[in-house]
Amino acid sequence: MGYWTDGKREIGVFGLGRSGRAAAALLRLRGFSVTGLDSRDDVPACSDCIRMVTGNEMEDCLDGLDGIVISPGIDPSSPLPSAARELGLPIIGEIELAFRNTDIPVLAITGSNGKTTTAEWLGYTLRKAGLNVCVAGNTGYPFCTAVIENPDADFISLEVSSYQLQTIETFRPRGAAILNITPDHLQRHGNIEGYINAKARIFMNQHNNDLLVLNRDDPGSIPLAGRTDGLEWYFGIGESIEAGAFSEGNSIYYSDSRSRKFVIDRRDISLPGLHNLSNALAVICLAGKAGLEAEQMGEGLSSFPGVPHRIEWIRKYRGVSFINDSKSTNPGSLNVALKSISKPVVLIAGGLAKETDYGHLRGLIADRVKVLILIGDASDMLESCWSGTAPVFREGEMEHAIKRALDQSQDGDVVLLSPGCASFDQYSSFEERGEHFRKLVEGLN
Ligand code: ADP
Repeated sequence: MGYWTDGKREIGVFGLGRSGRAAAALLRLRGFSVTGLDSRDDVPACSDCIRMVTGNEMEDCLDGLDGIVISPGIDPSSPLPSAARELGLPIIGEIELAFRNTDIPVLAITGSNGKTTTAEWLGYTLRKAGLNVCVAGNTGYPFCTAVIENPDADFISLEVSSYQLQTIETFRPRGAAILNITPDHLQRHGNIEGYINAKARIFMNQHNNDLLVLNRDDPGSIPLAGRTDGLEWYFGIGESIEAGAFSEGNSIYYSDSRSRKFVIDRRDISLPGLHNLSNALAVICLAGKAGLEAEQMGEGLSSFPGVPHRIEWIRKYRGVSFINDSKSTNPGSLNVALKSISKPVVLIAGGLAKETDYGHLRGLIADRVKVLILIGDASDMLESCWSGTAPVFREGEMEHAIKRALDQSQDGDVVLLSPGCASFDQYSSFEERGEHFRKLVEGLN
């Protein structure tokens, strides 16, 4: 029995958010005694913890502990984990803990953008082919919970963030995809090399027939090539690939170095945009690793309904389609959404700006947007960045924005909520913002 699987020890769980609580539940189930640690004063009780240490009195909290599980939100180089390391206590993250406590093969997905969509799409495609699959990880359903609740799954489709990868040790996915690398979270990782190296941990324990899938079209992924001890496959748009998945014209192929098989016509993929074509190609590679036939892959790729708040179609009203892209919390996502929609767009944007200059989107807005409706804090800034590109209405709040959008649109248009900004000026999360939009749009009559 291993250190993290047989329950004779006292383990501290540092950070009692969703994944910390899931780790505590799994530890308790395996018989460990769990101490909950959190620097916040107002942490809700944790029923799987026999002891809680919260707030500022954490100096002595390491006494008597045999190990620590830290949450992804906590920097491993911050004072408490550093103190634990000095005492020689083993420290792992929730992903590592779950991995050590299951034999279910893992197909893991990381990258700067598209993780949730791809992990859900893979899970959907495998399930449609009759497999028992659970989608977990950074998607909001912790890996530890999946291990507790789905002991009989055939596969786990796991979304992993770079933060989660910092605290793995033996984690070894049978298949792993790195979708793309753009500078992100550099504060935590130090610099772009640190960020790339955190992502590279997804394959650090792979060997033999384990599969790493990389994006041939992404310059940011070039430094990852040639580093896995397993198989290295690629996906890409527009040119054939020997081992992996690619599109040529409208045809999409899966190729496993022995043969090339047609999977689907590109126009039959259920989600719009080049970015989703790229995500679909990653799904094909991992579905191939799970043993699916090309035809089964095609079935999943053509019918996946998408993930809520990511270019999600809500309804048609008076000939106008309403799309919820509330997950668009930065200008990069707004850029991707506008490129995905070919119809005239009435855009609702704004919120709490992440950057001070959104001027680089001017060309795209002038090209695609017929009317611009601004909400929230960033209205002043966005209006001056985009002035002259399209008629602007400043509506402050979502209710007014939707009324104005309806007023300004006609048969065949798309009303798109893609804020390009965080939601925290008016909402507690992008989910709440998207739900508000959905409720108002569903209520139109
Ligand atoms: P993540 O889980 O990595 O945050 P999501 O699947 O939630 O990614 O998608 C978030 C947003 O990222 C989408 O609304 C879209 O704007 C953008 N996106 C999705 N896939 C890609 C991709 N492959 N490349 C670039 N942007 C993407």
